[in-house]
Amino acid sequence: MKTLTNEQRVSIAEKTLAELKRRYPAPETNLRADTPWQLLFATVLSAQCTDARVNSLTPELFRRWPTPQALADTPPETLEEAIRPTGFYRNKARNLLGAARRLCEAYGGEVPNTLEELLTLPGVARKTANCVLYGAFGINAGLAVDTHVRRISYRLGLTDERTPEAVEQDLMRLFPRSEWGGVNHRMVLFGRDVCRARRPDCENCALAAACPKREPPKDAAPARKTKKE
Ligand code: SF4
Repeated sequence: MKTLTNEQRVSIAEKTLAELKRRYPAPETNLRADTPWQLLFATVLSAQCTDARVNSLTPELFRRWPTPQALADTPPETLEEAIRPTGFYRNKARNLLGAARRLCEAYGGEVPNTLEELLTLPGVARKTANCVLYGAFGINAGLAVDTHVRRISYRLGLTDERTPEAVEQDLMRLFPRSEWGGVNHRMVLFGRDVCRARRPDCENCALAAACPKREPPKDAAPARKTKKE
């Protein structure tokens, strides 16, 4: 593994941001949600599940539980059955019910708009909190690191770190704060279209000349397995 100098990282980060913005001028999350509560609900469900599957279920889920108050007293088995197709449904139901109750008890039934407050909700770690803050409030408190962001950042040499938290710190130093939410959305799209987990399309990638194309480490901690996410 070749570690890049800070100057090299800065240069690659600038080229990466320019290319991502050129390729995806107006990226948005694929999860459909109209309120902060809906986005939190959908983001929790999206762990280890495709956005398309989550989107196929959420219209009915949002109709049944439009607010944290509506969900808070729901029997766990009822919620489990409703979200079962998203996988890991018992864990997700426990977290969603815990989050709904805490929102009612501590935040007047509203989703708070600070990282510190969001991190007090059961099942909400930095990735989910960052997604909700940017998607629902337009706030760049951090840079959500999922499996695409982690893999692409490593291949490009922007980080040598293994955990999402440490990768996030490296990326926050390399990208302007105003771009953090967009970097996440754009890298997710880029990771599906070009820099795929298997067989990245380096031949047709505009970053090929600058990219060291490093193989991501096999022992890196999976991005989704932090704090009950
Ligand atoms: S050159 Fe290859 S490894 Fe580097 S960003 Fe492009 S697709 Fe990914």
